[in-house]
Amino acid sequence: MKIPFDNSYVKLPAQMYAAQRPTPVQSPTLISFNQPLAELLGLSGDPDVAVFAGNEIPEGASPIAQAYSGHQFGNWNPQLGDGRAVLLGEVVGKDGIRRDIQLKGSGQTPFSRRGDGRAWLGPVLREYLVSEAMHAMGVPTTRALAAVTTGEDVIREEVLPGAVLTRVAQSHIRVGTFQYFAARQDMQALQALTDHVIAGHYPTATGPAELLDQVIERYAHLIAKWMGLGFIHGVMNTDNVSIAGETIDYGPCAFIDGFHPDQVFSAIDQQGRYAYSNQPGIGAWNMAQFATALIPLMPDQDEAIEQFSEAVNRFPDIYIKAWKGVFAAKLGIDELHEDDTVLIKDLLNMMATDGADFTNVFANLAEQTARDQFLDRDAFDAWKTRWEARKSPNAAQIMAAANPQIIPRNHQVEAVIQAGREGNFAPFHEMLAAVTQPYAALTDTTEKFARAPTRNERVTRTF
Ligand code: AMP
Ligand code: MG
Ligand code: MG
Repeated sequence: MKIPFDNSYVKLPAQMYAAQRPTPVQSPTLISFNQPLAELLGLSGDPDVAVFAGNEIPEGASPIAQAYSGHQFGNWNPQLGDGRAVLLGEVVGKDGIRRDIQLKGSGQTPFSRRGDGRAWLGPVLREYLVSEAMHAMGVPTTRALAAVTTGEDVIREEVLPGAVLTRVAQSHIRVGTFQYFAARQDMQALQALTDHVIAGHYPTATGPAELLDQVIERYAHLIAKWMGLGFIHGVMNTDNVSIAGETIDYGPCAFIDGFHPDQVFSAIDQQGRYAYSNQPGIGAWNMAQFATALIPLMPDQDEAIEQFSEAVNRFPDIYIKAWKGVFAAKLGIDELHEDDTVLIKDLLNMMATDGADFTNVFANLAEQTARDQFLDRDAFDAWKTRWEARKSPNAAQIMAAANPQIIPRNHQVEAVIQAGREGNFAPFHEMLAAVTQPYAALTDTTEKFARAPTRNERVTRTF
């Protein structure tokens, strides 16, 4: 296997990362390899399990662990960084886009603190499925290139099988990467990072102010897309916010089944900070932290505070506009009117009251199966009459492209993980095939992935 590396992050100031090789594992086995992604990246030859396990460093790689900080659940943590990940290097794909290739679960680094640097199979399979599903649904996201089992145990609350995910991202630079250098008043690194990000991700930005504007724009649109899919990230800490505007760090993430705006899945999110309905507000908060980290770069800091506050204060309007666009498409409305917001919100309120299945209501809105999701059928019928009168002539077409039939449902992800723990990856591959064709008409083999969980099947906690 040949990987055409072209590494740029290692040319930045040395305090921005630590050279770090992955730690080899006992007996790696390939679970999955993403051939179409490999082709996009310009990889050639057969997948090399030794590379994806971290047992061999491929030619041209310059493995590093990146430094970053972050606000975790609102609390400042000055020292995070890649504690269980190693960036092998970067490639420029056939589409001209530069991307990182990173191993996650590849052993300890100088940033591991008390952690073992490892990942267990469950989160690796979840990230693979969910990130590839998100990509198929048109959401900017990191991708999964490969997954391997390590043949080693990982000790959590129980003994679990170890795994390594090979993750691809436009970059792994986070809000927390900026925070790391701003907090240390390391102007050399902060400036180098900013120049690097502008050159790589925001070439039309002429400086920190325009960079901030453009990151806000992308992040607001990203969160609007999450909301339109019922996606809950689960850990929107500033170290998990990609500057490139991609969804990153799939931990205890989940898609809503029965709709409730206050839904939380993550077992560690006890205050519901990252509940579904809080995501836009947290998005604005995260952009305020990004703005704060950019201020030291500005010649007149008082002026910058004013200017950057205004930029962050534009987040809600940008978000709401994006949200309306997302939900209008879900209802088959191509040109939004001011009062369409009422139509959208009335449906969501009914869904919340009755716990209707988020995905299936939108996927089948014109059909009886959507009506069946509601307890108050009269209310739904009355709403539907208003909607029929309002939707665009080509509504069916717009809706088919906006409303997935299949999302990676929690109970099915859990079943895949359970089978994987027993060494059976057939359910993983079957589910991967289904969730990467989210808008395709259902077939006998994919139909089961569109079924909402029964009360007993419902998974309400993710880890
Ligand atoms: P995350 O919860 O994945 O966003 O990670 C938060 C921080 O904890 C990052 O600095 C990770 O690198 C670090 N971390 C998470 N799990 C481990 C682990 N098993 N070993 C070492 N560091 C870890
Ligand atoms: Mg260094
Ligand atoms: Mg993280």
